[in-house]
Amino acid sequence: MAILSLQNPATGESLGTLAEATPEQIHQTMESARGAFASWSQTSLSERLDYLVRLRHYLVEHGEELALQISQDTGKVTLEAFMTEIFVTVDTIRFYEKNAHRMLSSQKVPTNLVLWPKKSYIHYKPMGVVAVISPWNYPFQLAMIPVLSALVAGNTVILKPSEVTPSTGLLIEELFRAVPLPKGVVSVLHGGREVGQALVTERPDKIFFTGSVATGKKIMAAAAEHLIPVELELGGKDPMIVLEDAHLERAANAAVWGAFTNSGQVCMSVERLYVHESIYPDFLALVTKKASALRQGYPDQAEVGSMTSPQQIGIVRQHVEEALAKGATAVIGGQFPVTSDSMFLPPTILTNVTSDMKIMQEETFGPILPIMTFSHEEEAIRLANASPYGLNASVWSRDKTRARRVAEKLESGNVCMNDVIISYANPYLPFGGVKSSGIGRYRGPSGLQAFTHSISIIHDPGTRKREVNWYPYTEDQRRLFVGLTDFLYARKRKWNRGVLGAIWRELKRLF
Ligand code: NAD
Repeated sequence: MAILSLQNPATGESLGTLAEATPEQIHQTMESARGAFASWSQTSLSERLDYLVRLRHYLVEHGEELALQISQDTGKVTLEAFMTEIFVTVDTIRFYEKNAHRMLSSQKVPTNLVLWPKKSYIHYKPMGVVAVISPWNYPFQLAMIPVLSALVAGNTVILKPSEVTPSTGLLIEELFRAVPLPKGVVSVLHGGREVGQALVTERPDKIFFTGSVATGKKIMAAAAEHLIPVELELGGKDPMIVLEDAHLERAANAAVWGAFTNSGQVCMSVERLYVHESIYPDFLALVTKKASALRQGYPDQAEVGSMTSPQQIGIVRQHVEEALAKGATAVIGGQFPVTSDSMFLPPTILTNVTSDMKIMQEETFGPILPIMTFSHEEEAIRLANASPYGLNASVWSRDKTRARRVAEKLESGNVCMNDVIISYANPYLPFGGVKSSGIGRYRGPSGLQAFTHSISIIHDPGTRKREVNWYPYTEDQRRLFVGLTDFLYARKRKWNRGVLGAIWRELKRLF
């Protein structure tokens, strides 16, 4: 049986060990989730929301303790853990309390006149067992929000949290024990890649995955074997475009926060900064001053905590070293002592970078802010879009029309104008990527409905003995359809007596 070690990355302190789930446990967990689905899917939405209200109260009452535990697991400062893990989860619960009834109730839709007297509606039906496979950078909320969304929609859930942050997986398991849900409704399977693979092999009814592009592709390939629907929330290389009429101080504050929050381990962090050449010297001076003032530490009295995953440090170092070797300049930071085993990386600003460097191409996922200039709007859009990723982007201008024009030309699932990252915080907005950043959306009405099968239901009163399109086929039917097509859809409406006669005779055949 494989064992995971629990460790505080900021201090190196060992927090114990945890056994990975065995194949037998994974199988039994799936059986139990399937068994629980039969009754959970029949509970009313109000009952399901009652559980969420209890969970919200628990999170509010224990929020600071929980944030500290998440900090111990990730090395992030506790204020960040509170704001981005606890607050966002609580806020999402309240959003569901207020809106889930509207988003999940059956929705009437119009029915074409030719289908008279039928009526149509969409019914949102739970899918079954949803597998949520989550990453380590926001190990609490990136697990909790999909889990809660799946539950609200009437599914049972199996969560496979990241093996890099197993303590948060344990914490989530305890949370659902503290706010007890019926047995089998939410289960947590601890472990790494093999446990994730085995979970997919158990054929859940939907897979909600957040993580890297490479793993996303593997999961999608495995899911294709059984045509399991997948939703993939993957990486990013998010651009920030600062136009010459932006509020410079605000943009500089945002660039520093957007690049260094959570030590840059954010799928939506600012990983490429494009600044108009006319404001570049002033802007660079501002971001340098602000970044130099950041305090690194743990768990508080600091802005920037430690890195969470030792593997990620290798990638960050490689990107920075390649950039420096190719002529980039580290305005601040940039030195990663080879011998040090510290998990704290210095916030780094790089200039003289070029689009062919890894630092401008691949996801770095560390506290690095590379900056390039542009001379006109179209060039900025072209540079921003020249990436395989498309998760989030930001555009900065005091001119709303101009900012919108640029925002709508960006190849990105989410765009912020005069802000960074924050689109995720609005639960009314769907979230997800384009290009290599993923498939599907969660959050917002469509994101909740994505945890259901949208069943199209059309209803005929059932009082006529047949329909015009049914057997036996007749010459009148042919005339009726050709005549109707001309009447309804031709450039110029045509109508003739022969068709009217055919319609009359066909109508009589209906009753
Ligand atoms: P990862 O892909 O290494 O792992 C994610 C999860 O998948 C983990 O739980 C892991 O155990 C599991 N896993 C790994 N291989 C598997 C397999 N073959 N089958 C089933 N499960 C498997 O990602 P990570 O390093 O934990 O997370 C960082 C990545 O996540 C970054 O690329 C980041 O951009 C991305 N991310 C995306 C979003 C988003 O919303 N789009 C949010 C956060 C993080």
